[in-house]
Amino acid sequence: MSSAEAVSPPARGSIVSMNPATGVPLGEVPVMTAEEVRDKVERARRAQRSWAELPLKERCRRVRRFSDVLIARSDEVIDLLVKEAGKARQEALVTEVVVVADLVNYFAKHAPKILEREKIPMHLVKHRASYLSYVPRGVVGIIAPWNFPFSIPVGEALMALIAGNGVVLKPSEMTPLIALKAAELCEEAKIPADLFQVVTGYGECGAALIDSGIQYCVFTGSVATGRKVASACGERLIPCTLELGGKAPAVVCADADLERAAQAIVWGGFANSGQICCSVERVYAHEAIHDELLARVVELASGLRQGDAEREEVDVGAMTWERQLDHVDSLVRAAVQAGAKVEVGGARRDGPGQFYRPTVLSNVRQDMDVMRTEIFGPVIPVMRVPSEAEAVNLANDSHLGLVAYVFTRDREKGRRLADSIEAGTVMVNDVLSTYGYPETPWGGVKQSGIGRTHSAIGLKDMCELRHVNYDRIAAKRELWWYPYSETTYRRLNKAMRLLFGRKFRRSS
Ligand code: NDP
Repeated sequence: MSSAEAVSPPARGSIVSMNPATGVPLGEVPVMTAEEVRDKVERARRAQRSWAELPLKERCRRVRRFSDVLIARSDEVIDLLVKEAGKARQEALVTEVVVVADLVNYFAKHAPKILEREKIPMHLVKHRASYLSYVPRGVVGIIAPWNFPFSIPVGEALMALIAGNGVVLKPSEMTPLIALKAAELCEEAKIPADLFQVVTGYGECGAALIDSGIQYCVFTGSVATGRKVASACGERLIPCTLELGGKAPAVVCADADLERAAQAIVWGGFANSGQICCSVERVYAHEAIHDELLARVVELASGLRQGDAEREEVDVGAMTWERQLDHVDSLVRAAVQAGAKVEVGGARRDGPGQFYRPTVLSNVRQDMDVMRTEIFGPVIPVMRVPSEAEAVNLANDSHLGLVAYVFTRDREKGRRLADSIEAGTVMVNDVLSTYGYPETPWGGVKQSGIGRTHSAIGLKDMCELRHVNYDRIAAKRELWWYPYSETTYRRLNKAMRLLFGRKFRRSS
């Protein structure tokens, strides 16, 4: 059945979610109005007030129950991820379910330490003291993409809940059923009613969420929408975190373990059909190993099994969004016209469903669009470079800077090259995985985003930072208060020279 035959036009005001591997409709959700979105936010706010009053350890205990429910119902969640997002089964397990289970257990255990009150040692005004505390923000709006429809928004939502917030999630129009499944799991985990809400609709629904009185927005998506979200948040003076696109380079040094590098590049480029913000999007291979690496990458790519994960065991699933196939195809065609060589793949797969064949391109140049624009599909362009220094220059020649990869046997060199690459995260001899390490920060530099999720930094960002400064020693007044006088001026002036004057600095 072709997707054109299978999808009946949606009823007015609703979205039909469909299986990208088969075109079979899976369910229908309403396109919510701005009033409905505002109502959901209000309900989340009411529920949040009593939630925020619970001790943090108690919130952690309750949110951790989500993990128990998730593990018990993991098959059902994986089935839906396979159907609605077109994922390979093992990817749904590892990169969605396991990532969330680990994240919630990690933060349920460590949040009390991360969010505990922090003393600030006072360096000059020693008769006073300061501390920082982390208090819930209120309602956090989460706007999510379709490529990791479970692990991205649900991980963020659980962190927000632990921090004492209510959450309203706007999933992508492509994957609303998975978000609704997460709400079902929350209910079974006895997370208080209304504390976690889902709103469904198109981009306007995301815009309405920002306009509905939320206190913080966590947005993951494209650079273009990220700009709109940043500007809408700026208008309302709401803080936001933006997790945007990537164009991850892989720098392969002459001394790399080529088998590991090739395996990593193939997994990093084709997992989730290449629809990952940190997918390997361009390879810079040292000329000494370029041919051998390319041959192994092509061999591995040629052996991948692609298809509908619901029916058979596959390595590469469907592409979630039809429009993405056109984008990928046009990048590959333009590259070939400009002189690139298709080593394997290079076209849509024949037959039903939204599949693009795992593709490896050689003979590419840095000025080709395929090396500059986010592909977000199963295409790996491999470029020959004369030196590691040139590879790093080319890696940095991008408006994006989310993640980068370096392959070398020399650990010291690996860290040195990693330090010189402009990216939020650089992995040495590995790919993709750090998103799944909840203790490490996730986010980009340049146009890949603003702020970080995950890690202690991401959890603290779910809170308002409050500072309290108090007296350690009782005194009627401070020296610099009223009344001003010549005597006080002289004393203060002398103190300043003693503290900061050259004489003092020399002896310190
Ligand atoms: P989009 O930017 O198209 O959409 C992201 C979300 O924003 C969707 O829920 C979308 O709704 C919503 N949206 C659209 N317009 C607006 C608006 N004006 N105001 C508020 N919300 C709006 O991204 P994609 O869903 O296509 O996701 C792919 C992109 O996400 C890629 O660029 C990828 O690199 C990036 N990404 C980044 C990650 C990171 O961690 N840095 C991780 C994963 C993906 P709707 O879908 O209904 O239009």
